[in-house]
Amino acid sequence: MNIHEFQAKQIFKTFDVPVLEGYHAETPEQAEKAAEKLSSDKYVVKAQIHAGGRGKAGGVKIVSSPKEVHDAAQEMLGKTLVTHQTGPEGKTVKKLYVEAAANITGEFYLGITLDRQQSMPVMMASTEGGVEIEKVAEETTEKILKATINPLYGLQAFQIREMAFGLGLTKEQMKHFGKFAAALYNVYIENDASLIEINPLALLDDDRLIALDAKMGFDDNALFRQKEIVEMRDFSEEEPTETEADKYGMSYVKLDGNVGCMVNGAGLAMSTMDIIKYKGGEPANFLDVGGGASAETVAKGMEIILNDSAVKAIFINIFGGIVRCDRIANGIIQATQHVDIPVPVVVRLDGTNAHEAMDILKNSEIPQLVAAKDLNEGAEKVVHIVKN
Ligand code: ADP
Ligand code: MG
Repeated sequence: MNIHEFQAKQIFKTFDVPVLEGYHAETPEQAEKAAEKLSSDKYVVKAQIHAGGRGKAGGVKIVSSPKEVHDAAQEMLGKTLVTHQTGPEGKTVKKLYVEAAANITGEFYLGITLDRQQSMPVMMASTEGGVEIEKVAEETTEKILKATINPLYGLQAFQIREMAFGLGLTKEQMKHFGKFAAALYNVYIENDASLIEINPLALLDDDRLIALDAKMGFDDNALFRQKEIVEMRDFSEEEPTETEADKYGMSYVKLDGNVGCMVNGAGLAMSTMDIIKYKGGEPANFLDVGGGASAETVAKGMEIILNDSAVKAIFINIFGGIVRCDRIANGIIQATQHVDIPVPVVVRLDGTNAHEAMDILKNSEIPQLVAAKDLNEGAEKVVHIVKN
């Protein structure tokens, strides 16, 4: 789960990570009022979308009066921002953050995420702040400083010093950096974050460091104990179909191809996508209906997959271990009565009562249903259908 910049900054504040004064707004009037509350003579209006790169796309405006804040807000709200992180369809601006503008003398990058290879959090810092950090990481790896943090000991003073030296900070700036980094690590641990990115971490003319931007993502498996974070969830920023699937305990990920895939279990989802690609096809999605694939979940899954107009055929690949295949076959038949299915559906069921399931599907005489005896045949059939 991800949150907006203004929400991340609220969290930062409670953990003493320095941020500038700012208020969230959803109308030009609210934005103007927010500016009037700020003790500053320069204001920044920032589009709140779950993506970075807003500055370059016109989503960050610096202005010098509350009236100009109003006008900038009016222009930004409702606009679709296309950045290197939104994909070509972009994201519509529905919320804004009005913040005091700072006099920046330098921009750094500071982030924390989980290093899966080391199974430990890693703090990353770079002098190349303000720009696309992905590019820096790719083209000039040596410019990213890393500190792997043993969670039992926490972030150590020597690690902070190493990073501060690497960033070329003065003695005075180092003091601020030390406090900043330690506080940020607390934010990461206490909130079960999976990612924090501050880009830029700005250096002010009085040597203080401020989080000018803030991005936070959370470990979904820990959300049960992070009630306040869950309340920050903004469904309008998420892929609506993914949210819908989530409600029914299914995981759906939209992809670019035209073969809709319905499977039970993430491992089977992976191998199903692999074999579709191996046969020359492209999956349109990844839909895992979970362990207890019932008639209802199959019907809901079909609906979700068919929401995507790119889907030219569906491949249902279910392994009946806990659930019996004959019940799933009946579920599929029931689903065809509830959902209008305009594309062929190739079904491969294996496991308990697979033979009975095959018979049920064949005897149903539903024209869209194509039974396959195994994974290989199923993948071949579905790819053949979308190619012809
Ligand atoms: P994004 O990463 O989405 O482009 P940022 O929050 O990083 O958005 O803002 C882009 C740039 O705008 C920053 O690199 C910084 O130079 C400038 N900026 C952002 N907030 C402020 C602020 N409060 N005061 C001055 N400049 C700002
Ligand atoms: Mg940024």
